Amino acid sequence: SGKDKEKCSESSKPTTARVPLLTKDIPNKVKYLLIGGGTASFSAFRAIKSHDARAQVLMISNELHVPYMRPPLSKELWFSDQKDDDKTYRFKQWTGSERSLFFEPEQFFEQPSTLMKNDKGGIAPVQGYTVKRIDSKNKKVILKEDDYEIEFEKCLIATGCTPKNLNVFESAPSHIRNKVMIYRTPEDFEKLKTIAQTKKVVTIIGSGFLGSELACSLAKYGKPYNLQVQQMYHEGGNLAKILPPYLSEWTTKKIEQYGVDVIPNIQVKEVSRDHDKLKLLLTDGRVVITDQVVVCAGCNANTDLASISGLETDGRLGGFVVNAELEARSDIYAAGDAACFYDPLLGRRRVEHHDHSVVSGRLAGENMTGMNKPYEHQSMFWSDLGPDIGFEGIGLVDPSLETVAVFAKPSKLQRTTSNLDDPPAHYKAEQKEHSSEEKPTEKKEEVEHKPKTEEVKYEKPEMAEHKWPAFEEDHSSPDYGKGVIFYMKDNKVVGILLWNIFNRIGLARTIIKQDNTYDDLNEVAKLFAIHS
Ligand code: FAD
Ligand code: NAD
Repeated sequence: SGKDKEKCSESSKPTTARVPLLTKDIPNKVKYLLIGGGTASFSAFRAIKSHDARAQVLMISNELHVPYMRPPLSKELWFSDQKDDDKTYRFKQWTGSERSLFFEPEQFFEQPSTLMKNDKGGIAPVQGYTVKRIDSKNKKVILKEDDYEIEFEKCLIATGCTPKNLNVFESAPSHIRNKVMIYRTPEDFEKLKTIAQTKKVVTIIGSGFLGSELACSLAKYGKPYNLQVQQMYHEGGNLAKILPPYLSEWTTKKIEQYGVDVIPNIQVKEVSRDHDKLKLLLTDGRVVITDQVVVCAGCNANTDLASISGLETDGRLGGFVVNAELEARSDIYAAGDAACFYDPLLGRRRVEHHDHSVVSGRLAGENMTGMNKPYEHQSMFWSDLGPDIGFEGIGLVDPSLETVAVFAKPSKLQRTTSNLDDPPAHYKAEQKEHSSEEKPTEKKEEVEHKPKTEEVKYEKPEMAEHKWPAFEEDHSSPDYGKGVIFYMKDNKVVGILLWNIFNRIGLARTIIKQDNTYDDLNEVAKLFAIHS
């Protein structure tokens, strides 16, 4: 039966068949070399090409796909009506238009064997190969597969990150591990989709972005199949590392209303096999029976090649240490999830979000062509949790900081996000410095448009005492449908979360960049026009 055919699947490795490329077909000397075939790398290519029109760019990727975006894997793809055997991964964007997960079709890319003959330039992905070392003195990379060497003038490290598993599963025998998976690739999406169609219970572990988004998507997708979706984690509520406690609590209740069985405040203590299912013993003594565990417990930056290449990594944040120009060593840059960069405004950071991979990839690409620009354009992130929650954030969004929030009940939900696929608009916006990157557009059709009964709330965060005598307190009917949350450090706004408010991320960026100190956030909050 299908149940017994599952392969051991903790790894996200692709299963797509491909014709292996021989190293003799890979050029041994290029001007631009990109390590990693993800969003940051592809964004760097676009920037390089727009500043060096004939650039010949070689991209080494250990995935077997051309570059693709990951966000729809936990959201839109679950609601797409594409056929199960359609491998273009088409989905409907929030704008209503349809597109594929891939940034460009296969035909867009050059073959490695012909790249150097094409004087118009282009990008050639070398798929299924891993860079094991960079020789920074002699400026060459060495491939793991057969020690093949490629010389470069400028090199980008955009190796992304790898999902963590948990010890309790990693140390278990294979008949248990084969019912535990991590989630990052189209292959993981395919696998989980089949499980959702054929099994009874899926258990997601983790309260972060991925666990929360997947739980909501699976609850909806699995309804016709009578799938039971559980989400369990050791925190007290969903997204507790992003949201102030009261909002995390409210969000958790919403997710329960979507049909997810949420089990907070626990860890998995032991795991055993119960016939064809798994039996999880939780730290509170409860026993849970499940068909499949999906571990969403964060990521580790892919820095395997660091120490052997003499490159520094950050002991606390992880990732390759780079300066404000995203340079690790002369002519070697890092961007995306794997970069621990210096933000002149907010200090040293590592960010694991799509827009950051676009923004930092672009900056690295520009600097690889000699522009020497510092990191100044703050990237944003977003998430969607079912029909009632969509949010965008920028800067340091960390609930251990002081937070000040203003809420109103939602009226019309609209959204905007930055998009690697519209570089001209993006560039224009960046030149205008603070304007938001996109046009306002209606949010997804299924969004319920609630009546516009407005109400302002001033929420006092539990984790830190703040001194903003701003808004009238009203806890009578907490409805955090729509609002703005300021994250404060030394009376400065260092992070902003826009909760069901869209098209205002440019304004949020401006406020953070102004770096002002505030005693009263009333006037700033008004700028977000949360009641309009
Ligand atoms: P990656 O996309 O991971 O690309 C790195 C590539 O490098 C991979 O192909 C990897 O296999 C390859 N590689 C690694 N090491 C080597 C090596 N030594 N040699 C050769 N190749 C190598 N962010 C948001 O802001 N909003 C969202 O809604 C959102 N949704 C997400 C949903 C999912 C399911 C996931 C997994 C992530 C989501 N993210 C989201 C995060 C976002 O997708 C990542 O931040 C982004 O993909 C990072 O891009 P990157 O290029 O740095 O890394
Ligand atoms: P995350 O960092 O958002 O959340 C990590 C979660 O892992 C924690 O909240 C916690 O619940 C759990 N965890 C950590 N250690 C644990 C342990 N020892 N035992 C049990 N649970 C533990 O990471 P994620 O949700 O796994 O997402 C994976 C990656 O994909 C991240 O880089 C994330 O930023 C990215 N992603 C981003 C978005 C978005 O921006 N909308 C959406 C999906 C995924």
